[in-house]
Amino acid sequence: MEHQNGVDVEGSFIVVDRDTSLPYTTPPSTELQPELNATITSTYVEDDNQTIAIALDDESSWTLAGTRNIPKDATALQKELHSLLTPTKTFENWARTFRCIPDQYYTPTSEEEIIKIIHLARLSGKHVKPIGTGHSPSDLACTDGIMINTDKLNHLIRVDKKNLTVTVAAGMKLHRLHDHLELYDLAMSNLGSISDQSVAGVMATATHGTGAEYPSLCASILDLTLITAKGEKIYCSKTENVDIFNAAACSLGALGIITRMTLQCERAFRLENKQEPAKLGDVLNDLDNIIHSAEHVRLWWYPHTDNVVVWRANRTTKDITRPISSWSTSRWFIFHFYQGLLNVCRFIPSLIPTLSRFMFWATQSKPIERVDSSVNVFNFDCLFPQYVNEWSIPWSRTAEAIRALDLFIENGSVQVESGVGIDSNESHTQGIKTVKKETALKVHFPIEIRFVKKDDVWLSPAYGVDSCYIGIIMYRPYGKPVPYKRFWAGFEQIMASFEGRPHWAKAHSVTYEGLVQSYPKMEAFSEVRQKLDPEGMFLNSYLRRHLVPTSVPTSSS
Ligand SMILES: Cc1cc2nc3c(=O)[nH]c(=O)nc-3n(C[C@H](O)[C@H](O)[C@H](O)COP(=O)(O)OP(=O)(O)OC[C@H]3O[C@@H](n4cnc5c(N)ncnc54)[C@H](O)[C@@H]3O)c2cc1C
Repeated sequence: MEHQNGVDVEGSFIVVDRDTSLPYTTPPSTELQPELNATITSTYVEDDNQTIAIALDDESSWTLAGTRNIPKDATALQKELHSLLTPTKTFENWARTFRCIPDQYYTPTSEEEIIKIIHLARLSGKHVKPIGTGHSPSDLACTDGIMINTDKLNHLIRVDKKNLTVTVAAGMKLHRLHDHLELYDLAMSNLGSISDQSVAGVMATATHGTGAEYPSLCASILDLTLITAKGEKIYCSKTENVDIFNAAACSLGALGIITRMTLQCERAFRLENKQEPAKLGDVLNDLDNIIHSAEHVRLWWYPHTDNVVVWRANRTTKDITRPISSWSTSRWFIFHFYQGLLNVCRFIPSLIPTLSRFMFWATQSKPIERVDSSVNVFNFDCLFPQYVNEWSIPWSRTAEAIRALDLFIENGSVQVESGVGIDSNESHTQGIKTVKKETALKVHFPIEIRFVKKDDVWLSPAYGVDSCYIGIIMYRPYGKPVPYKRFWAGFEQIMASFEGRPHWAKAHSVTYEGLVQSYPKMEAFSEVRQKLDPEGMFLNSYLRRHLVPTSVPTSSS
């Protein structure tokens, strides 16, 4: 199979979405006008997924050009798009930690409608922000311009059973993707903790799972289609528009709206999962072996204690066996009882270490084993809203970094070489810095430690480096605030000193100047961004902070 111009060429068929198939060119024309060396021998509706096929007598050289009419003034476009508009509403992320009021909120159903929204934005000088499910714990998805909800770009486009690939509309939620894949005996090779996000959302932020031989999810992208600030539809892959592809696979919505993606999958599989208690010192001393002790390994460390859960999972053909639920593993206990006690800790933080010890004893002090579908094992209940921060560092620095973090939590002070480009407060400056002795912190469990294979996606935090992600958390019982800023500042300082790169989805304080030093391809990414979006249509505050040099002024909507 060959790919050209964003349309799949399969045998002698070009397969395109019926209502999204028309790549935009200027000037617009009213009809699909293929310019083909070959002759179209027939067109027909291929299936219920609204695709049409065009049969050619020669697939070797062709282009497709054409659009439907696009009104040239904003009022006419606004009228045309009215049915896709939701009256102004507040957008809030999942954890309810960031919110914004977009100027306009559209839910398009096709690429063609997205192109019209982009034109409207250009005509009216608005910024544009695509969103998935708003799960990013930062202002990454926020805008005061036009917000594009991608919920209705959710159809299956193509499954290639031979090569184990799937092409989907990029707004599809992961859980829906899993349902489709199951029907074809396929599965994603790795997943993060949940499947509520959109496909484009997880790729845009280099969302990761765990596994020494398993890279971030965006490394599974084989090709994608992007609608740019000019309203152009660009197809890119590992062999076509390669720079755009390398930049777009993890692009934070900064290059345009991704409308479809082809992903590498594997045959559906079950995982045998064992989790067992261990001691932090033993784990850190034997980390190299532990990382490779199963296909997928993660650690949950209970700070203020030396308790760790070692979670391992391997592919298996064994029958499904699920552990019998007890009072301590029931959702009621963990969700309600734990949340209630965390709320008490808001007023008496000194109870936090005791609560952590108790919860470890109640839920994790005995080994747990099960066999289940890959999705059921990879995913788990993330309970209730939380502040989170997560960075990746090279595997080889993991033990040192965890020891430094332990010291910081217990002493309340950091003594490390600070990273560059961190911009949150005075203590984040370059060079050796000792923060004055402060009171110990009281922080929530778990500190999650996961391992990710290096990849070659330009903005992936695991670009070129086998990486360990360390994630910290402070729960917000009943959505209430808890103190977290001192913990965050010290954590970032420690991570930066271990060659850390922050997780893109999570709020962090590294400026472009800092990031450009740790991402070898940051400047190449900026070049692609400048070329595709010279006016900065897709920038928001987050992207201006982290993807644009401080000295470069950017327009605001
Ligand atoms: C409970 C919870 C668990 C999580 N677990 C993990 C985990 O295990 N591992 C991990 O790495 N991360 C994890 N995350 C982070 C999460 O995977 C990311 O925040 C992800 O981006 C969320 O996807 P979303 O669909 O909600 O995207 P959003 O938050 O809506 O958007 C994220 C980014 O994607 C861009 N985007 C969305 N759609 C498009 C599109 N069509 N075209 C171009 N850009 C687009 C947006 O503009 C934005 O920049 C978790 C988050 C939560 C809240």
